[in-house]
Amino acid sequence: MAVFHFVPSLKKKRCICWVCLEESTYDSTWLLHTCGCNLQIHKRCYIKWLYQMHVELFLSDPTNSPKGADLPIITSLKCLVDGHHDFMTTLSLTEIWDTRPIWGQKSVPFQNDYMLNLMSLYTKRNNHPPYVLLKFGECPQCKKTTFIKRPTVTIHSLILSLFYQWQKITRYVIPLGVTSSFLLNPEKTSFDLGLWQLRCLFPENILRNMLNISTTKALDIYAQTERGLLSIPLTSSVIIYGFLHYLSNISNVSANAILFKWIYLNIVKTAGNKYYKGVGLPKIILYSNLATFCYNFTFKRFLDLMYKRLIRKGAENLYHGDFENANQGVSVDEFFIKRSWYTVLAEKIIWPFVGKCTGSLLLNIFLWIQKRFGIEWSPNCSPSEFRMIFNIIGCGTAAVSWSSLKLYANYRRCQELEKINHYVEESCREVQTEYA
Ligand SMILES: [Zn+2]
Ligand SMILES: [Zn+2]
Repeated sequence: MAVFHFVPSLKKKRCICWVCLEESTYDSTWLLHTCGCNLQIHKRCYIKWLYQMHVELFLSDPTNSPKGADLPIITSLKCLVDGHHDFMTTLSLTEIWDTRPIWGQKSVPFQNDYMLNLMSLYTKRNNHPPYVLLKFGECPQCKKTTFIKRPTVTIHSLILSLFYQWQKITRYVIPLGVTSSFLLNPEKTSFDLGLWQLRCLFPENILRNMLNISTTKALDIYAQTERGLLSIPLTSSVIIYGFLHYLSNISNVSANAILFKWIYLNIVKTAGNKYYKGVGLPKIILYSNLATFCYNFTFKRFLDLMYKRLIRKGAENLYHGDFENANQGVSVDEFFIKRSWYTVLAEKIIWPFVGKCTGSLLLNIFLWIQKRFGIEWSPNCSPSEFRMIFNIIGCGTAAVSWSSLKLYANYRRCQELEKINHYVEESCREVQTEYA
């Protein structure tokens, strides 16, 4: 109930900015002091105040400094207000704790060495923003250095926020999960993972045929012990262990990936009972290969084209330069939103599961249409095999949808960067005109 009363009172709250002395009711343009003092400041006034403070600290003569001397300060301010700043960085777990005091709210010892900070702009440790802005100021009343929430500028896009959360979750969960489970028992973990993925897509009878075993439940028991794992037929082990790798490289056209896929698929094809009646694996492999081929030569090309257009239009919005992109090592879809191995791995792991969910949704739609229009048609295979075909179609649909969503998120991020640039540059320009 406390929250219920708190929100309307905050909405009606009158605020007076202690910089420009203007008064109005509280909205998103305001920042409230968190130090306990009853003070308020405009977001924009806080940015201007920070800019002025740092210019006076770092530049010997603010009214007469060379053009662009304040660039590191402006860049740092952009970093500060960027609510989705982690889209730019590819941090490892340890580095997150390293940088927390600087980008979080904790105060850090102030470094008065302008040259050092200026240099960090050019040395670029791991695509990090320059560490110029080390000071968030202090409350004019109580002199605390942690007195205000970080002012953020974002466009209010649900997709972008979801993407950001997804990256954040995978950043913590995957490295921790991978290190713990793989360190404890790497063979069992990759075996269980592969088997789980295969089970998401294939029905029991196909799996039995593919893995040459009377029941796949036996595999769970074998996986309990090291001796058990060793007693599984070699081809079955290769199929299970290799499945994640196969999925990760399904649309990869590098020579190594193609060679691996070729060997893998041949093992899958030759494994199993040749007298099996039903939808055979060679057929499934043939059709999924054709689908991947079509994907690579139509949809992927289209995506690349769209990304390139986006980069041409919005590359200048990337405020701390395209240092990392300058060496051409970055693929087009990572230009605005950096993607790390943990996010990619998480996506590959859950892909068959998402494909299965999408597939059953599609199957339900299909059955509904069939019923609605009274179409009398029955597939030339068993219900479980029919479901499997939909699982595989679902995987394709999920992949295409996910790529489209990623493109859209990149587009929105580009817009957001434009907004951040405008916001900070305009605020700083206002201060500059005050100097003149
Ligand atoms: Zn103000
Ligand atoms: Zn205070």
